[in-house]
Amino acid sequence: MSELDPLQEEEVEQRLGRIGVLILDVDGVLTEGGIYMDHRGGEHKRFDVRDGHGIKLLQQRGLRVAIVSGRRSTVVAHRATELAVDPVIQGATRKGPAFQEVLATTGAEAASVAVVGDDVVDLPLFVRCGLAITVADAHPEVRARAHWITHTAGGHGAVREVADRLLHAQGHWPALLDYYLGP
Ligand SMILES: [Mg+2]
Repeated sequence: MSELDPLQEEEVEQRLGRIGVLILDVDGVLTEGGIYMDHRGGEHKRFDVRDGHGIKLLQQRGLRVAIVSGRRSTVVAHRATELAVDPVIQGATRKGPAFQEVLATTGAEAASVAVVGDDVVDLPLFVRCGLAITVADAHPEVRARAHWITHTAGGHGAVREVADRLLHAQGHWPALLDYYLGP
C-alpha cells in the first residue's frame, strides 16, 4: 500500500518501471467529464484518439489496460471493446472491491498496478495501488493525494501522457520510434 503524497520524479520513474496493469477511470480521465444527453436518454461521450493509440501501444508491449467506472454506459462498453480493454468494470459505486476484482482477473500484485482517476470516488483505488496518477484538472482533494499529476487534462491527452511515460520508463520508446521512422 502506498502513502498518498506527491513522489519525487525518481520514485515515480521507478514505480512506472514495474507497472503491468493500468486502471483507467472514464469520466474526467478518458473524457473531459462532460456527458451529452439527448431527449431520448441517449448518451454521447467524446474520447481522445491519441489516448486510444496510447492504450494500444501499451497493450502491444504486454501491459494490461482496465477500466473501472462508477457509472454504467453502453458508450463505454463500445469504446472498451474497440480498444480491447479488459477487464471493464462499470457501475462500481465503491471502487475498492473493483480493485480486488482487477487483481483477481489479471493476477497482478497491487504494487504493479497504476491508477488514473480524477475524483474522490477514485481514492479507494489510490490507497491500494502502486502508483496513483491524476489529471491536471482533477478535483483538488485528488490532486493533493496523487503520486503524480499529468500536465494534460482529462479527455485531452492525459491518458496518452501516462502511456508515453510508461513506454519511456519501461524502455520501449526507442524501438517504438524505430518502428515508425524505419524503412
Ligand atoms: Mg472520474
